[in-house]
Amino acid sequence: MTTVDVAEAFEGLYGSAPEGVWAAPGRVNLIGEHTDYNDGFVMPFALPHTAVAAVSRRTDGVLRLHSSDVEGGVVELGIDALTPESDKNWTAYPAGVVWALRDAGHTAVSAGADIHLTSTVPTGAGLSSSAALEVVVALALNDLYELGLERWQLARLCQRAENVYVGAPTGIMDQTASACCEQGHALFLDTRDLSQQQIPFDLAAEGMRLLVVDTQVKHSHSEGEYGKRRAGCERGAELLDVDALRDVAYENLGAALAGLADAGADDEVRRLVRHVVTEDHRVERVVTLLKSGGDTRAIGPVLTEGHASLRDDFQVSCPELDLVVEAAVEAGALGARMTGGGFGGSAIVLVEAEDAERVGKAVEEAFAAAGFVPPRVFAAVPSAGARRVG
Ligand code: ADP
Ligand code: MG
Repeated sequence: MTTVDVAEAFEGLYGSAPEGVWAAPGRVNLIGEHTDYNDGFVMPFALPHTAVAAVSRRTDGVLRLHSSDVEGGVVELGIDALTPESDKNWTAYPAGVVWALRDAGHTAVSAGADIHLTSTVPTGAGLSSSAALEVVVALALNDLYELGLERWQLARLCQRAENVYVGAPTGIMDQTASACCEQGHALFLDTRDLSQQQIPFDLAAEGMRLLVVDTQVKHSHSEGEYGKRRAGCERGAELLDVDALRDVAYENLGAALAGLADAGADDEVRRLVRHVVTEDHRVERVVTLLKSGGDTRAIGPVLTEGHASLRDDFQVSCPELDLVVEAAVEAGALGARMTGGGFGGSAIVLVEAEDAERVGKAVEEAFAAAGFVPPRVFAAVPSAGARRVG
């Protein structure tokens, strides 16, 4: 779907051409999982898949929303009546952004907007279709209403929309990735102070590919388990008397684990702490490797090590994700890991370009042999963050 198609669809719905068209990508996380609520490090990059929004301002306090990806017509909401956690439909994501902007004092958006959305980001696959939707709306309103907000501020407001308005507890990674990533780079983000570094990550130039394997499964207990992991991490930080697990230095991990045992912490808390501390260290190792200008292939084993930690210590993997990693590594991948929160969703596989097809097939065959739903496999190049496209 081109920008012109989206603008034409808008005109068909609302009767006049949009004032502009914007796009915001989904993301995969290269490394740094379950670290973002521990004040730690993450390293996402943007997918070529985007949510696209055609938008015009209004003057009567009405918000009209439409998505070509959802059954049903235009939804009309009064901006004054927007209330957190009142909407259980998809419209909560864009409406939440308007609410968050207004709640932060950007009252110009109260005048309203007509919005038509369409997206190529797979939904519910751990690739952040929700953040793409929020960020594209936030950027459009920021431009049209001349709010002057910076990218990281838009990301923060989108996170608030998702946490408070939609009612989904998520960290800051997804929205920051969609708002701030740059083509050919991964984004090294410190979730404590939101400082960022763009790290060159041009896989194609180095003869590699990164496959995304969407397992197409989402295990139903994922939300409750996420809450438990978060609470366990907070308990660990409390017992270690630090603000967040980010403050436990990798060099002191052994002493910290011994201290936790002395303090009577159960085995689960110690495993959670070990994952978070080693995972932050893995992000730093990947950053060092990529910045060194040496062979990017060296990050492969770090990715696979990260998967083992998520599987064994953090226990957020599932049979389908484990099988992707096992089959891919067996078939000669350089490294592989689950990406996103876990319990389903997607995995990433780093391969030599010439092995990409063979490794992808090996994963598909392993899924067929296990009787799993066929996975969706596609190659992803690090792409641009949110932008105006028309
Ligand atoms: P993820 O962000 O991993 O894809 P989430 O559960 O966080 O999964 O967000 C998915 C939800 O976002 C969908 O259920 C839907 O409500 C909303 N969404 C995403 N893309 C679209 C779209 N193109 N149109 C309408 N709603 C969408
Ligand atoms: Mg999401």
